[in-house]
Amino acid sequence: MSEPQLKVEDLRVAFATPRGSVQAIDGLSLELEEGETLAIVGESGSGKSVTVRTIMNLLPSTATIEGNITFDGLDLRNVPKERAKHLWGVDVAMIFQDPMTSLNPVKRIGAQITESMLYHLKYSKAQAKARAIELLTQVGIPSPEQRMRQYPHELSGGMRQRVVIAMALACEPKLLIADEPTTALDVTVQKHILDLLGELQEERGMSMILITHDLGVAGGRADQIAVMYAGRIMEEAPASTIFSSMRHPYTEALFESIPSVSDPSHTRLTPIPGRPPDLIELPHGCRYAARCRYAQVTCTEALPELESIGTEHWVACHLPVGTSAGIDARAQNEAAGVTAAGLDLHSTMEIL
Ligand code: SF4
Repeated sequence: MSEPQLKVEDLRVAFATPRGSVQAIDGLSLELEEGETLAIVGESGSGKSVTVRTIMNLLPSTATIEGNITFDGLDLRNVPKERAKHLWGVDVAMIFQDPMTSLNPVKRIGAQITESMLYHLKYSKAQAKARAIELLTQVGIPSPEQRMRQYPHELSGGMRQRVVIAMALACEPKLLIADEPTTALDVTVQKHILDLLGELQEERGMSMILITHDLGVAGGRADQIAVMYAGRIMEEAPASTIFSSMRHPYTEALFESIPSVSDPSHTRLTPIPGRPPDLIELPHGCRYAARCRYAQVTCTEALPELESIGTEHWVACHLPVGTSAGIDARAQNEAAGVTAAGLDLHSTMEIL
């Protein structure tokens, strides 16, 4: 079998802070096949953005990185200088949450889109201009020639994000990383941008990593979904499997917090009680135990490893949802009103 296009093995990332070492990623492994879309889902601070910033070589010098990352067989932790110039931003490109992170406020849109083509692809000015107009048209920007002469502040948020997508696509990347690409945009624009990314990906056969805190956004747009919590993957499976037979209590809780169109109006969503653990003083057992409705003593003592439970389905849980052990654990906790990790289920129910 051929090697996956992107392979991350046992990645560990820590940041030195005055309070101690923050373990942002703790033993993460991922694989992405060519042309595939992987969505990484989780709350803020789960480590999803640190994961992709590690792949993009964007971490600050305070970060300690362990583990292996390969892209098209190339060791991304030891890229020769000459190759590095034409790797990040060219073969592997990224779209950030806030388009202004990528745009220079004092440079015209046209100059910003053509820059990488002039430098990396050695296009002439006329070629780069023609290609930039083509790209702006492709991402749905009307009057592209006029937009080329404008500055970022003259465009709406949705238009700016389209420009950023055009910039990311300028050098025909093999892998596009989109880090919460629609979070800063209003709902009507969100759908257009995500549809656009899907269409462009299909046309170009690009692989994509989509980072989102919203399981609903990931569904229907990703082939594979990895759910992250406190620096670890809790569950990974094809999108359809995650939605039809999720096995991790955290995935279940995320799912319950998504509004559904079939819900009657004024239906209250189910929030996840508590907050993620302190990444400086991590608990011994399961990272999710303090918030988990299924938690038993074993969960507070032993860290569950990510294990295969079926075709392309992995879960890190001692008492998976839907198994007899999981069903018994939850029933036992509900009868007692409290979990072995101290989560008060009665007060949680009152909040709901
Ligand atoms: Fe973690 Fe235990 Fe809950 Fe599974 S059941 S998520 S191992 S606390």
